[in-house]
Amino acid sequence: MTLKVPLPLAAEARHFIGGAWTPPAAGDRLPVENPATGAVFTEVGAGTAADIDQAVQAAESAMVAARRTRWTPAQRQDALLALAQAVERHAEDFALLETLDTGKPISNSRRVDVPGTAATLRYFAGWATKLTGESMELSQPGETTAYTLREPVGVVGHIIPWNYPLMGAAFKLGPAIAAGCAVVLKPAEQSSLSALKLAELAVACGVPPGFFNVVTGLGPVVGAALVDHPGVAKISFTGSTATGTQIAADCARQMKRVTVELGGKSPVIVFADADLDAAARAIAMNIFFNSGQTCSAGSRLFVHRSVADALVEKIARIGAAMTIGDPLDPATQLGPVITQAQRARIMGFVEGALTQGASRAGGDIALPAQGYYVAPTVLGSVQAGMAAVDEEIFGPVLCAIPFETDDLDEIAALANASRYGLSAYVWTGSLSRAHGMVSRLRAGTVRVNSSAGDIAMPAGGVRQSGFGRENGRAGVEAYTELKSVTIAHDHQARDHG
Ligand code: NAD
Repeated sequence: MTLKVPLPLAAEARHFIGGAWTPPAAGDRLPVENPATGAVFTEVGAGTAADIDQAVQAAESAMVAARRTRWTPAQRQDALLALAQAVERHAEDFALLETLDTGKPISNSRRVDVPGTAATLRYFAGWATKLTGESMELSQPGETTAYTLREPVGVVGHIIPWNYPLMGAAFKLGPAIAAGCAVVLKPAEQSSLSALKLAELAVACGVPPGFFNVVTGLGPVVGAALVDHPGVAKISFTGSTATGTQIAADCARQMKRVTVELGGKSPVIVFADADLDAAARAIAMNIFFNSGQTCSAGSRLFVHRSVADALVEKIARIGAAMTIGDPLDPATQLGPVITQAQRARIMGFVEGALTQGASRAGGDIALPAQGYYVAPTVLGSVQAGMAAVDEEIFGPVLCAIPFETDDLDEIAALANASRYGLSAYVWTGSLSRAHGMVSRLRAGTVRVNSSAGDIAMPAGGVRQSGFGRENGRAGVEAYTELKSVTIAHDHQARDHG
């Protein structure tokens, strides 16, 4: 079958800068590989610092122009709503681009990534007209009027990973535009196509040219140039803890605002009184969905010994029943991981654990001969100290560790024994146990009897999972600076007196 790839119109390995397709200054290109076959199916521009400079200048000019012509909150809202609609109108093209770029099953792209992107843009559209400062009554002598203004932080640089390229772009674009900030986005080099298409549509939806620029290329080249550019007021980064640590340090040196959403090794705690069938379904989908390439995936399972065997068997059975294969087949539930290197890294963790005495439930399923597939795997007989338990694997691999105690402090200590702190999940029929765990877990997000997220809830990490929050009110306010204004009335009276 010859597949027509719906490449963004006129893209031809170009950036999208100032509302126009722009060739990379150095003229270089990067190949784009389909993870399901290993075949190169297109190229993107390999940007350099010169491209970033051009994009930042376009963004700065766009913000100046928007202030002059007053691009109002209502207009920003309308533009984001129109973009959400455009994403839906082009749903099939976006789904195909996302699946070809990342290997994720087309059914997931259609059911999750594309509608999730539209919903995200709609959610943030609403915030554009609702950001406010506040007024205060002061205690200093004389009459004053005092209030705060919430102003856009300035031009923002966005750097995102390859696991949810379209939704990842929307998580950052939505709040930035709502707050009135112009954006330079550096998508992951493996998966830049959907962001380019989004940028092209944004202009047609009323986002002024220059307000949303996309520069493609390698992280240490274009990503680093974006972080270092003096015209960028804030960096919002999602990716690995190693890169995020470097970026946070670079931003601190420049006193640049920064939000870093990093890795995780999120615990799932299952008590004996939990609904095991519901827990098994949710836990399996949380770690196997998107081939485990989800930052908030629950990857360390702590389960009460009395139900451990039953739960692990249920989870492994769900994994074994997943349809693995061609991501373009609508029946496929599990596609390949992003690259050969990522597959090798995941298998290194699994094989390392097996060598150290771990047992494996699942994982021995026949996989397609071509492409970077990893079978859903549950590792037992593992403990803290093993790399598979301590490190983020970012693949469909769950480590199961039974516990005997009923002491919530001891259980929380097991779960908290990680350098990460992104998400935590609790499954129990007891409300008091649920509350007890919520207060003891060190994580940016805790979900009880569910693994579903929502854009209205702030998301982010503690410890090495990063700092700052995306989504919800906190996510939009992160794109603003507060200005405190005090106006003395007496002075005014004197002036007019
Ligand atoms: P990565 O850090 O290697 O790359 C992420 C992005 O950073 C890419 O666009 C890359 O090009 C860029 N980059 C790389 N080096 C850079 C540099 N020196 N300067 C500037 N930019 C640079 O991460 P990855 O391996 O591609 O992505 C997977 C990671 O992302 C996982 O650790 C995962 O947990 C994390 N993640 C976190 C969240 C969250 O919200 N916390 C969400 C999704 C993914």
